[in-house]
Amino acid sequence: MIVYKNYSMKNKSNMKIGGIAKTYIEVEDKNELIEIYSKYKNIFLIGNGTNTLLSDSILDYTFVSLRKLNKITNLPEQKVKSEAGLDFKKLMKYMYEKNYSGLENLAGIPGTVGGLVYMNGGAYGSQIFDCIDEIEIFDKNLQIKTLKKSDIKHSYRNTEIQEKKWVIISVTFNFTKGFDLEKVKEIQNLRESKQPLNLPSLGSTFKNPTTKFAAKLISEAGLKGTIIGSAKISEKHPNFIVNLGEATFLDIINILALIKGTVKEKTGILLEEEIIIVK
Ligand SMILES: Cc1cc2nc3c(=O)[nH]c(=O)nc-3n(C[C@H](O)[C@H](O)[C@H](O)COP(=O)(O)OP(=O)(O)OC[C@H]3O[C@@H](n4cnc5c(N)ncnc54)[C@H](O)[C@@H]3O)c2cc1C
Repeated sequence: MIVYKNYSMKNKSNMKIGGIAKTYIEVEDKNELIEIYSKYKNIFLIGNGTNTLLSDSILDYTFVSLRKLNKITNLPEQKVKSEAGLDFKKLMKYMYEKNYSGLENLAGIPGTVGGLVYMNGGAYGSQIFDCIDEIEIFDKNLQIKTLKKSDIKHSYRNTEIQEKKWVIISVTFNFTKGFDLEKVKEIQNLRESKQPLNLPSLGSTFKNPTTKFAAKLISEAGLKGTIIGSAKISEKHPNFIVNLGEATFLDIINILALIKGTVKEKTGILLEEEIIIVK
């Protein structure tokens, strides 16, 4: 493993905000997790940081990255085992090369396989758990286990992995034959036309409440385009908060509070953050 002390986390969150971490570790072998979890306190696993907002103060955490665990293995019957640190884009490229189908609707999500599985990420009616066969995890008893999908509770943007604080080491997917390249192109065009991809953000900030879209609620509350400091509620996609350049953690926190307060006042609905806040 590689251990860094007093590490700047600014570039480890896609919002490009982040203070100095006490410790930042890059895991090189899954068995190192035993030593890490025995020795360090306040551990936070960081993937691509595309769903994680970091405070810009001193971060009294040990951040652990699995980015070096990024191997893909082809198994019989269109099964693929991917280590958790793999960039999801690389898994999509692999599916294209092998002509495997199943996760095309998720094309363009900028996270790692681990980050996506942790929160059962998804898009356009699909979620990553749709194609999961089994997940290799590291648990609080410092043990590595492989669990079948049916043994892991999961729902919209929620998995038992969060509650149990498991580390996802690798994921085995069940695909079918026939990569749908047209679908991927269609989804990518949709993303480009509907999302502010030219500025730092964490994607959708709030979960969609049952039967409603958070973006619509924010828009109807008249908040589109609001700026606090250097943080802005995107006009293109009002559930995205973008960093105009010099946004601070407090700018984002203030904008979150403004959205939640205004939407609650106007509709009675309390929006719940989809992003993870580390402070
Ligand atoms: C432009 C843009 C578009 C997006 N579009 C979508 C979308 O369509 N659908 C969607 O669902 N999300 C979307 N997102 C959000 C984000 O990309 C996903 O949630 C992604 O899965 C997060 O992965 P990550 O590696 O960046 O996770 P991080 O932000 O690094 O971490 C997220 C959480 O996962 C945990 N975690 C990370 N790795 C592991 C692991 N190995 N084991 C256990 N826990 C782990 C972290 O501790 C943290 O709690 C978008 C984000 C952006 C910026």
